[in-house]
Amino acid sequence: MTTVVDVDLLADLKKFGAADVSACFSCGNCTATCLLSDNDATFPRRMIRYAQVGLKDELLGSKELWACYGCALCTQSCPTKADPGEFMAAARRYAIASYEPTGLARVIYTRPRLGLLIGVLVAAVLATFMLTQADLGGLHAPTLALFQFVPNELIHWLGIGAMAAMVLAGAWGVVRMVRATARREGVTWEAVAGSREAVRRAAGAAWDALGVESLGQRRFRQDCDGEPEPEPLWRRRWLVHALTVWGFLGLFGATIIDYGLELLGVKATGTAVPIWYPSRLLGTVAGLSLMYGVTLFMVGRWRRWSATQATSTGSDWMLLTLLWITGLTGFAIEVALYAGQPPAWGYWVFLLHVAVAMELMLMLPFTKFAHVMYRPVALFFYALAKRA
Ligand code: SF4
Ligand code: SF4
Repeated sequence: MTTVVDVDLLADLKKFGAADVSACFSCGNCTATCLLSDNDATFPRRMIRYAQVGLKDELLGSKELWACYGCALCTQSCPTKADPGEFMAAARRYAIASYEPTGLARVIYTRPRLGLLIGVLVAAVLATFMLTQADLGGLHAPTLALFQFVPNELIHWLGIGAMAAMVLAGAWGVVRMVRATARREGVTWEAVAGSREAVRRAAGAAWDALGVESLGQRRFRQDCDGEPEPEPLWRRRWLVHALTVWGFLGLFGATIIDYGLELLGVKATGTAVPIWYPSRLLGTVAGLSLMYGVTLFMVGRWRRWSATQATSTGSDWMLLTLLWITGLTGFAIEVALYAGQPPAWGYWVFLLHVAVAMELMLMLPFTKFAHVMYRPVALFFYALAKRA
């Protein structure tokens, strides 16, 4: 196989925030320090070497990029201040921009102000479109009939459109990543589906990636808890991350259940239901979990609680802000729905909530949120190698 060398790779990576890794002289301290690096996935030194010699395809096909949880232990061990931890984060941003086909991720990462402007514009366009379809008479209705203000059907079809666009762009990126990783790992179709044993191994690896690691956060919790400075449990990174993941998934599940109950005619749209109602209960608990996680991430980055939070980029803040607004406006809608005298602000908060939630999904393949697609794929290959 021909090896293509990209002489601009290192310069390009610097645009994504990589520190000056040309200072690295391959001593290997970082790899020796990293608690997640092992024989099946050695990093970060190997990734830095790829960047230094221009092996772009090797870098983009490295499952190791996504096996790192950004604890910054390696950065503290580096004698030349090459900041390998931040290099890994920058390389992930570079990978997201390289996998997706539109070039939007590159703009968001390398021109953060323009990226922010695009983000605000997308939300504004979504909100304006919904507002032009709105039944403003609903503002004076005796009950807070939110779905009269912005019709349920419109939200439904806009939501389907946003999901379809996200799935298309995301699928493109995932296919590119799978092909690059499979090529580098030497994994063929036969190796995952060629025999009953291969299918069983692939299914086990999929469970490890999705259930044990993505949902259970096993490696993050057990192997990567040795952060440079010990953190109290309430702000330990794996827990804050897990609460954010579980909260988001819970809210997604509550939305699906709610929609299903409305389709079945069990529940009328836009009506307040008791707090113990399944979708409401799940949504409230999940919302609290999400708000806790995202708020702690934001405060931690703002206050620079630990070395892991010393560097923040515009894309970090963009994702956290979108998640935080979605969670907060969700609770504000709940308050509005339960208020005896429905407040008029409830309509506008509802509009903001729907617009931002849709933007979150629409922008998923292009923002830091894309790691929810790529990390499980990388962990699948990682688990597959372990089960070989
Ligand atoms: S940031 Fe942590 S997990 Fe990532 S390479 Fe460095 S030591 Fe390993
Ligand atoms: S510790 Fe620093 S100098 Fe040594 S290999 Fe890692 S990045 Fe390079």
